[in-house]
Amino acid sequence: MTSFDLTPGERKKTLELVIDILEKYYSGNTAGRVTPPLEVAEIRAEVESADFDNPLSITGSVTKITEALGKYIVHLGHPMYYGLFNPRPNFPSVLADLITAVYNPQLAAWSHSPWASEVELYLVKQFGQKIGFPYEATDGVFATGGAEANITAVQCALNRHFPEYGESGCIAFRKRPLVYCSAEAHHSVIRAAKVSGLGRESVRMIQVNDRLEMDTRALEETINSDISAGHEPFMIVGTAGTTGTGAIDNLEKIAETAGKYNLWFHTDSAWGGAALLVPEMKPLLKGIAKSDSVTLDVHKWLSVTMSASMFITRHSDILGRTFRITTDYMPREAGKLEVVDPFSHSIQWSRRFTGLKLYLSLMVFGWKGYEEVIRRMTAAGSRLKEILVQNNWEILNSTPMPLVCFTDRDLKDDPAFIPWLCSSVVASGNAWVSVYPVKGLNAIRACITNYNTSETHLGDLVKIINEIRSDYLKKKTSSGDR
Ligand SMILES: *Cc1c(COP(=O)(O)O)cnc(C)c1O
Repeated sequence: MTSFDLTPGERKKTLELVIDILEKYYSGNTAGRVTPPLEVAEIRAEVESADFDNPLSITGSVTKITEALGKYIVHLGHPMYYGLFNPRPNFPSVLADLITAVYNPQLAAWSHSPWASEVELYLVKQFGQKIGFPYEATDGVFATGGAEANITAVQCALNRHFPEYGESGCIAFRKRPLVYCSAEAHHSVIRAAKVSGLGRESVRMIQVNDRLEMDTRALEETINSDISAGHEPFMIVGTAGTTGTGAIDNLEKIAETAGKYNLWFHTDSAWGGAALLVPEMKPLLKGIAKSDSVTLDVHKWLSVTMSASMFITRHSDILGRTFRITTDYMPREAGKLEVVDPFSHSIQWSRRFTGLKLYLSLMVFGWKGYEEVIRRMTAAGSRLKEILVQNNWEILNSTPMPLVCFTDRDLKDDPAFIPWLCSSVVASGNAWVSVYPVKGLNAIRACITNYNTSETHLGDLVKIINEIRSDYLKKKTSSGDR
């Protein structure tokens, strides 16, 4: 008869095989292609070759799936992946995921996983300290990503501003509620408004200044005219490290405006929040301590496996007010203890132990380890800028964070050049970069997301794009000759 446990012998054999395969991938994915072939028919055929009427052995199955994954993914762990904040996951985080899977703690109710629940609360409090929130007042919850954390923020803001919202829902809005963020903010803010029943029209995306930061004068003007028009502003989202260009909004000024109009101030520092761990970078986020809440992704610059984010607030009562529902069936063993059931503070109900990967990483590397890695990655970003400028590339953004948007000095008015260059890079498999429009110009966007990206890799990237630029110029001249 089948046992879902498999036999101890099968388990041992499979674990040994898996460890071998995983170590090979983890240590070896720094070589070879960065990008997969995108052959839909081939990939689908590979997936559909699994015949559930004719099961395979566990070892055969594992070999098959790891081969497929190794072939058909963008290798985020590759040092030539200059991507969308997706990190190379540090090794403790990989182990934490494995350990979590085996113990499988259920974090919905505190009493089912008291140690794990306290680990997550401890981390939230520790990061609250880094933000500058008062320790006792700090509360928060782990989320699947920045998108969920931002939805959590909008929900908290609505519950604070419209006390009847939790009971009456949208009927509580006698006027149109409005959220403000910059035109460069992450679109999960719009998603958050949509799923909260507000809709896209409730989000005012404020123009940005020359440094791609929210124009705070335009912010106040828009709030004033919205109030005159009979609307009800309730929230401002500042971004500390925009996804496109790494711009950091003036959080200090936004806090002042939020205070003046009595609005919830949320800082989305999904990526850039990591700067809080580096003393000389922390001032970049000046004003973040005045936020009512903060989004900080763990699976971006904190270099752990997908998926993990933190929502942190300095209002200890707001998550409970926003999410608590009492039920007859949830465990009550902790009823008399002064503890919080995570399910009462979150969009999620059953919960995975997401915090372990951060806890284990910090146990092993400490704040110091994180500080050094983040500093080194930032220095790599500055170095990349230097090499680009020496090679006639023009930098279009101005963030101190390791994210560079650039174009060619002489080809910047040719709209076809950058998209062509980017798709040539990606198709070559040698690196991954993307196109992002900056002030009306297409730019190549390259972000240092891998702590192993070294000076050699930076040189390789510039060499690759220089060559593609030469090819483009040759092509352009020869077609011009005709
Ligand atoms: C990535 C990002 C998000 C979305 O976070 P996910 O973890 O992808 O859900 C939100 N805001 C900013 C600024 C981001 O960079």
